[in-house]
Amino acid sequence: MTNDELRQLASDTRCVQAGYIPGNHDPRIMPIIQSTTYKFDTAEDLGDAFDLKTDSPMYTRLGNPSLSWVEEKVAVLEGGVAALSTSSGQAANFFAVANIAKAGDHVLAMSNLYGGTHTLFASQLKKFGIEVEFVDPKRSLEELTSHLRPETRCVFSEMIGNPALDVLDLEKVAALAKAGDVPLIVDNTFPSPVLCNPLKWGANIVTHSATKYLDGHATSLGGFIVDGGTFNWNNGKYPELTEPDPDYHGIVYTDQFGPAAYVAKMRAGLLRDFGSTMSPFNAFLINVGIETLHLRMQRHSENALAIAEHLAKHPDVAWVNYPGLKDSPNYDLAQKYLPKGQSGVVSFGPKGGVERARQVINHIKLITLVTHVGDLHSHMIHPASTTHRQLSDEDLRKGGVSPDMIRFNVGIEAIEDIIADVDQALAATR
Ligand SMILES: *Cc1c(COP(=O)(O)O)cnc(C)c1O
Repeated sequence: MTNDELRQLASDTRCVQAGYIPGNHDPRIMPIIQSTTYKFDTAEDLGDAFDLKTDSPMYTRLGNPSLSWVEEKVAVLEGGVAALSTSSGQAANFFAVANIAKAGDHVLAMSNLYGGTHTLFASQLKKFGIEVEFVDPKRSLEELTSHLRPETRCVFSEMIGNPALDVLDLEKVAALAKAGDVPLIVDNTFPSPVLCNPLKWGANIVTHSATKYLDGHATSLGGFIVDGGTFNWNNGKYPELTEPDPDYHGIVYTDQFGPAAYVAKMRAGLLRDFGSTMSPFNAFLINVGIETLHLRMQRHSENALAIAEHLAKHPDVAWVNYPGLKDSPNYDLAQKYLPKGQSGVVSFGPKGGVERARQVINHIKLITLVTHVGDLHSHMIHPASTTHRQLSDEDLRKGGVSPDMIRFNVGIEAIEDIIADVDQALAATR
């Protein structure tokens, strides 16, 4: 079966089968092509590869068969026309924006972003002369639209904010991007392509930290950018895509690559020059991870909902946040955009505030303290003193992080064992 045929099949089937498709006598499992270089018969042949006239890779920084296979898998899973893999999720989000914004341009980003993305945008992009303005995604479409400027080049958002866990109103934010005639970029790391496909709801570009659920086993860093191929770049705002590129001997990406122009330019420009390439070995591990993504997302979501419901009635718990809880302010959006499950992250505050939160983390036994989400082991972290400690109190609040918040990555162990460990940690700190 081909990848085009697989696009018509269920998401679960695509997780298992899409991407690498073995031919007659080929290895059944996606090979790791651990080679930086490729052999060519003639100078003309290699010249064509440099002109991007053939699909053949010529140097692994710009392309490698193992990377192409896993890129195809993720493109098929998200319903996009092309994908690029990167060495991390940070590189993916940087590339997604830097591919279409330059000094003097403006980016409208939602304020509930992952701490690492917030810092990347607020401090690094600022040094590049790109102004990122953060707006509260809960504002009305009218208010949000008033922040668009002639120099705005994209709208950036997270499908489920990390760690505030608010669900994006995709249709509203897609309308915002449309009003500005700019693409909507959605970081879909928390739902993964199994629980939501933002491209179906009007997003134009999707990014992933593959380090989280796609890998799922906490073995590999990686990222992806997927292009839906739906945005019309010919509106005068993106000359770097629609006019000859002097850095790539006059190539016009929209002419040569049509709907896949955005990813082609990213590969020929940002990936070539910054070199944030995924390693073939990580591509192999991430591919193996994605083969069970549908099973894991289902179990992560079931376990997280059970934990959230347990904590909601626990006498030692002050508050619980999970978009699948019926009284969550995100419940309706979650039912609309994430009906199959709301992913595996729950946050809560124990009664007793910051000090109790730290103590609970010091008393967990089965659950471990690690800096991670999206892998199959249960673990916890206290964001205010760790992942988000570089943010000011005001930015913490804007990002939805309260000082007593524990972020709980609910794994796929037996639910009764996870609950027992939370209960003993809460009891020990009473
Ligand atoms: C972790 C994360 C990132 C960054 O990804 P890395 O692979 O750690 O570089 C970006 N966005 C979200 C939502 C994340 O959770």
